[in-house]
Amino acid sequence: MQHLTGTDALRLEAVALEAIAAQFGTPTYVYSRAALTDAYHAYEHALAGRRATLCYAVKANSNLGILDAFARLGAGFDIVSGGELQRVIAAGGDPRKVVFSGVGKTRAEMRLALASNIRCFNIESAEELDRLAETAQQGGTAARVAFRVNPDVDPKTHPYISTGLKSNKFGVAFEAARGLYRRAATLPGIEVVGIASHIGSQLLDPAPAGEAAERVLALVEQLAGDGIALQHIDIGGGMGIRYDDETPPSADDYLAPVLSVLAGREEEILLEPGRSLIGNAGLLLTRIEYLKPGEEKHFAIVDAAMNDLARPALYDAFHAVVPVTPRDLPAHTYDVVGPICESGDFLARERRLAVRSGDLLAILSAGAYGMTMASNYNTRPRAAEVMVDGARCHLIRSRERVEELYAAEHRLP
Ligand SMILES: *Cc1c(COP(=O)(O)O)cnc(C)c1O
Repeated sequence: MQHLTGTDALRLEAVALEAIAAQFGTPTYVYSRAALTDAYHAYEHALAGRRATLCYAVKANSNLGILDAFARLGAGFDIVSGGELQRVIAAGGDPRKVVFSGVGKTRAEMRLALASNIRCFNIESAEELDRLAETAQQGGTAARVAFRVNPDVDPKTHPYISTGLKSNKFGVAFEAARGLYRRAATLPGIEVVGIASHIGSQLLDPAPAGEAAERVLALVEQLAGDGIALQHIDIGGGMGIRYDDETPPSADDYLAPVLSVLAGREEEILLEPGRSLIGNAGLLLTRIEYLKPGEEKHFAIVDAAMNDLARPALYDAFHAVVPVTPRDLPAHTYDVVGPICESGDFLARERRLAVRSGDLLAILSAGAYGMTMASNYNTRPRAAEVMVDGARCHLIRSRERVEELYAAEHRLP
């Protein structure tokens, strides 16, 4: 992780993690504004000289403070629900830079997005197109649309996060897209403006995105022949980050094949990165409650759990674990586990750590798909969130209180 330094005690930018734990308690998600800004600028650098809009994928981390930081950098947003649109607006984001993805948009979500005058709906089925046309007409307006096409490219990533293959629920089949475009072009209430594709997540190889762009461009050219001119080409998100020993490409290298495919094109390029903008800008700060030696292995039982960070339990994902304060103690091999009553409640397995109970651990690379996937399982209030900015830190989400967890519940009459 960038901006994480310290030999005697870890700090993020200029703030000691010990100080954050003392002030805000644990578990707490801590983000670096400099790191997310650097990640955004790396994309801008890669896109220099091209007409392009970066639409941050809100589902990676939807905290208002994070959305605010991206909005101030000039970002647009990729949303997958009406709730995410409300967050973008509440954070000061510009709805006219919002693209709306997702296979299950409800009428109410469509109405909200139309009233907010979002930039584009990424349509994923024929039925959705009809519903949107009807909803827009009822509102006396027109919806700008792109179809999310499924280029049937293997992104070579985890099966749960690969989305561009024929066998999954996302996008419209490549073969069907042309017919849908022709139909959409004639529908009242619909204005065809673009095309979209998103092939998966945590992509480490730039080649599949380039192949997808090639297939999409072939379709764009067919459509032009049909008299359907598009204003933008949305190439989705998905660039991978380093969690362990991966060697992800830079934004420059990742986008090179796509940009060479699209060289000389008039259409604006849209991107929908999530993980690569925020994943390595955040960590989860947790305290060791107990050390428990076992016959087979040792356990470090911490105050964060799978409800705070689900990725290890869900995808068997790796997050590096670093003690905040180095100790002159013998190291042991630990499983770092939470207090939840599930054997799947682990954050890391078999890590060499020199620690004692009461120590703080930083679970790294937890900025994306961390807090947004958190739950209240075991009636655990969700963690606080703090954004570090140079020597300052801002509480961007207060720790939940237990009473809030059942405030909407009711006893029997
Ligand atoms: C999840 C998602 C993204 C973001 O993916 P990352 O891997 O976080 O970059 C972008 N577009 C769509 C449609 C998505 O579903």
